Amino acid sequence: MKYYSTNKNSDLVSFKEATIRGQAPDKGLYFPETIPKIEKNLINNVEKLSNEEIAFRVIKPYVDDDINDDDLFRIVKETVNFQIPLVRINDHIFSLELFHGPTLAFKDVGARFMSRCLGYFLKDEEKKVTVLVATSGDTGGAVANGFYNVPGVDVIILYPSGKVSPVQEKQLTTLGNNITALEVEGTFDDCQQMVKQAFADTEINQKLFLTSANSINVARWLPQQFYYFFAFKQWRDKDQPPVICVPSGNFGNICAGILAKQSGLPIDHFIAACNVNDVVTKYLHASNPIPIGIYPQKSKPTLSNAMDVGNPSNFIRILEIFHHQFPELKNNLSSFSINDDETIATIKRVFNQYYYTLDPHGAVGYLALEKYLQAHPDKKGIFLETAHPVKFPEAVEKATMQKVSFPASISSIMNSEKKSIKMLASYRLFKNFLLD
Ligand SMILES: *Cc1c(COP(=O)(O)O)cnc(C)c1O
Repeated sequence: MKYYSTNKNSDLVSFKEATIRGQAPDKGLYFPETIPKIEKNLINNVEKLSNEEIAFRVIKPYVDDDINDDDLFRIVKETVNFQIPLVRINDHIFSLELFHGPTLAFKDVGARFMSRCLGYFLKDEEKKVTVLVATSGDTGGAVANGFYNVPGVDVIILYPSGKVSPVQEKQLTTLGNNITALEVEGTFDDCQQMVKQAFADTEINQKLFLTSANSINVARWLPQQFYYFFAFKQWRDKDQPPVICVPSGNFGNICAGILAKQSGLPIDHFIAACNVNDVVTKYLHASNPIPIGIYPQKSKPTLSNAMDVGNPSNFIRILEIFHHQFPELKNNLSSFSINDDETIATIKRVFNQYYYTLDPHGAVGYLALEKYLQAHPDKKGIFLETAHPVKFPEAVEKATMQKVSFPASISSIMNSEKKSIKMLASYRLFKNFLLD
C-alpha cells in the first residue's frame, strides 16, 4: 500500500515512511492510494472472531509487508487488550464505550498502535526519536501511556498548568522514565506554538530527530477503524445496520469510521456531533459551502474540551474519501451542533431516565443522535462514548448531583507522585531545554 499527500505535491510513501514522517513534506496529510475491500467472510463471521483477529485483518492491507505478520499480530493484540462494550440505553440508542483503556479515553487505541509501530520501525536504527506533543488533556495522557518504555523513543509533553483536570494531570506526570512532562505557565495555544516552533527550528533538527504523535499520523488514524467493526460485531440486528454518531473535534475518529464503511462495513449513516465549534455543521448545511480551512476559526472553550477545534485537520480526508463530491458526502454524513446548556441538560436527563452517566463528549453525541432519530424514527443508532465521566467530574457532578468514582484501574495513578518541570511559556527556554 502506498500513501499520497492530500496536497498532491509529495512523493508516494510506504506505511513505514508515512508513520515516521507524520505529515507529508508539502504539509498535506497522507492518504491510502486505494481503499481496500473487506472480505465478505469477515463481515459474515464477525461475531465468531476475536477482537484481535478482526483488528489484524482490518489493518493488514494498510500496513502491507512493512511489518511481518507475527509482529503485526502482537501489536494489534497489545492495542486492543481492553473491553469495548456496546451498552443498551433504550430501544433505539446504544453506547459504544471507548473509555476502558488505560487513560480512560478513546485515544488509547491510536496511541498504542502508533507507538508500537514506531518502536518496531526504529529498532534497527542508531538514532533516538523524540516525540513532542502539546496537549489540552487527553492526547498527552494517551501518548505518554502508549510510548511508556518504548525503546528508542523519548516523549516530551507540554501541557498548560492548571488547565487540565486532576485525572488528566496524573496521567501526564506520574510515569517518568522516557516520559517528561513540561508544565507550561500559559495556555494550550502557547504549548502548541512552542512545539510548532521547535519543529521548524533547524538548529534543533540537526541535533534531535523530532516527530509528532498527533492525530494526523496514519498510524494513529487508521486503527480507529477497529471500533466500528467491534460495534457491528455486537449489533444484534445485522440486517438493519446502525446509524453511528461520533463526538468530533479534529474529525480523525469519524473519518476512520467512514473509511471502514467505504471498505464494506455495513453502517447506515454517520453523524458528526459537534459542540459550538461548528464549522463542519455549518459547512454541511450551507447551500454553497465555503471549503473548510479557508477561513480558520478560533476555537471556543466548552465543557467537551477535547472537541474545541476551530479548524478540523482530518476533514480533508473525508472529502478525499468522497472524491470531493458534495452530494455523496451529504448522503453519508449529517451533523448537529450542541451547546453547553444542552450538554448539561442531556447528562442530567439521561442519568435520571436511564441511570446512565454520560461524560460531556458522550452527551453531545447522545443528543445529536437523538435529534437525527427523531427525524428518522425507523432507524436505530450508536453513539461513541469517547471518555470516562471521571475525567470531567465538575460538569458531570453538576448535572447528576452525584459523585463520580474512580475506576479501580486508575487508583494507583491517583496515588502516584506528580513529576513535572515548570516552565514559562517562552520558546527560548524550551529550546535550551531541548538542546541540553
Ligand atoms: C479527541 C477526543 C474527541 C475528538 O476526536 P477527533 O478524532 O479529534 O474528532 C472526542 N472526545 C474525546 C473524549 C476526545 O479525547
